Formats: sequence, C-alpha cells, structure tokens
Amino acid sequence: RLPYTTLFRSRGPVRTRFIVGNWKMNKTASDAGAFVHRLSQELPHHAGIQIGLTPPFTALHAVREALGPASAVLLGAQNLYWEDKGAFTGEVSGAMLKDIGCQFVLVGHSERRQYFGDQDSWTNKKVLAALRHGLQPILCVGETLQDRDSGQTDLVIQRQLRAGLAGIEAHTLPTLTIAYEPVWAIGTGRAASPEQAVPVHRLIRRTIGELSGTDIGNHVRILYGGSVTPHNIADFLASEEIDGALVGGACLDPVSFATLVKVAIGSKPTTV
Ligand code: PEP
Repeated sequence: RLPYTTLFRSRGPVRTRFIVGNWKMNKTASDAGAFVHRLSQELPHHAGIQIGLTPPFTALHAVREALGPASAVLLGAQNLYWEDKGAFTGEVSGAMLKDIGCQFVLVGHSERRQYFGDQDSWTNKKVLAALRHGLQPILCVGETLQDRDSGQTDLVIQRQLRAGLAGIEAHTLPTLTIAYEPVWAIGTGRAASPEQAVPVHRLIRRTIGELSGTDIGNHVRILYGGSVTPHNIADFLASEEIDGALVGGACLDPVSFATLVKVAIGSKPTTV
C-alpha cells in the first residue's frame, strides 16, 4: 500500500468536511428516536460531507438503534476515561464506547476542562485511549477571554496541542480531528469572526506540522466551534482553513441542525 502522503501528493489531500452536533447534557434516550427520524427526513442521502452526533452516554444506544446500521451519520461520545476497565466509579472507557457503536469521541471539551478539572495530561491519556480502541478523537482546544485579552491565545493553543498530542505516532495524526473552540464563544451567541478564527486554525496546522516533522498537518481536519448557527456556518466554511464545525445549541433541533448541514454541503471541500 502506498503511504498516505504519496497517495495525495499530486493534488494535495482532500479534507472531507465534518459537522458534529454535540447534545451536551440534553435529551433522554426516549427523545432520540424522534430526533433521528426527523433529522434523517431532512438530510439528503448523499451528503458528501461527514455528519456526527454526540449524545449523552445514556442515549448512545438509542441513537445507534434509531440511525440503523446503514446510516452515514457517525456516532460519538462526549468524553471517555483512559483506563479500559476497573474500579473507576462513574466513568466510561473507550472499550465500552466502541462496543456500543461509537466511531469517535470528544476529548478536552472546554466544559470538561472548566467544570470537571480535565487537564492537558488527562486529555493526552484520553486521546491515546481513544486511538487504542479505534475511536477517532476530536481534541478540543481553545482560549478563554482573559487569555485572548492578554495576548496569550497562541501560547495556550500550542500548550493544549503539544500536551494533548504528546506521544502520538506521526502516522496516526491524520486520523485526528482538532476542534478550535474559543471558550468565550461557546454557548454565548458571540461567535468568533472568521478573521479571529482563521489565524488560530493556521497556527494549529503549523503546530501539528512541527510536531510530526512532516506535512501531515495538512491532512488533519480542524473544526471551528462556538455559537455556530445555520446563519453563520457559510462564513466559516468560506475559508479553506476551516474544515467543519462542532455545534452545540444549534444542533438540538433536528431541523435547525439539518439546515446547518445543508448550508455546509453547499461549500467546497478543501484541496491543499
Ligand atoms: C460546543 O458544544 O462545543 C459548542 C460550540 O456549543 P455552542 O454551539 O452552543 O456554542
């Protein structure tokens, strides 16, 4: 088999757009069927982009069942613990998520960092655990308003990336997705402007390139997250640096989420 980089050398890698709806701590297992049914009605069959949902743990099985085996919508979890099993009351492992049908998992979401003490060293263990179990990690990074106002954005993002990705073999990096989520933009209705987000996306890609010592950074998808709506998604995807979105509030209504996805489908994939 040809190495990944050789395969794409002539035209550059095509990074398929990825739109992820993060339910956070919303919706029960009983809500899942109606949501998925309505979403499936709204979405075109061949979207040409990837779509993912991260329901709470308690609704994962119901969403998997409602999607059915042939669905193109990917199932993800909002968090995992790094040990595979044992005396860790209240935690859920990568093995358990894989077994229930998850394909990807969020790691280091700012709400985990803010309210549950997730540190960089933990996000690293979680990324490694996800990869060990064949789950695609979405590593979330982002600065607080205080970081931004004091000119620390680049330092914070690089620290979160370098720590979160420590020890990951370069050839697995293309399977990773990074979500850039400025903390001040999450759930506030105050999205970053593309002019604010794009330089950080470039920094993330450059940092991954430095970490791997190759052009692998060009293969990694970098999503934007923070008050994305059907009205502003096109502005973000207009930049070839932004490969998709992690969406909270605007994904809770299936019609709103489907509208957002349909706008994203109208945008072109990135060939670098
Ligand atoms: C999120 O959950 O990661 C998020 C970005 O939320 P919202 O879209 O509501 O800002």
